[in-house]
Amino acid sequence: MTNRFAVCLNCMDGRVHLPVIQWIKENYEVDYVDLITEPGMDGVLADLNLDIKNIVTKLEISVDKHGSQYIFIGGHYDCLGHPVDNETHKKDVMVAVERIKKLKGSCKIIGLWISEKFSVKKIIEM
Ligand SMILES: [Zn+2]
Repeated sequence: MTNRFAVCLNCMDGRVHLPVIQWIKENYEVDYVDLITEPGMDGVLADLNLDIKNIVTKLEISVDKHGSQYIFIGGHYDCLGHPVDNETHKKDVMVAVERIKKLKGSCKIIGLWISEKFSVKKIIEM
């Protein structure tokens, strides 16, 4: 059986990775999760004035070479890289999902929220 990959665009914050990887593996048919991180990733992707070419180049390695069909985008509680309130985070995750969907239309794009208990919740899938 070949390995099934997904890719997650998330904050660099070390508290989020294990919960997110575990949640993805429990909820999708995925063996491995490629990670692309930036401080406050949801804020970076939601800022439409920011050039995200560098991030997209990394994303394409996972999609093209690992065959990732699912792209997850995370925002989390107590984010130092993007210090906004929880509602703004969730809105930014939605904007980020829409932005990436326009670039990678054949993939499923899933927006995740990681709460103060570091539990993972799906906000949107498109
Ligand atoms: Zn963060």
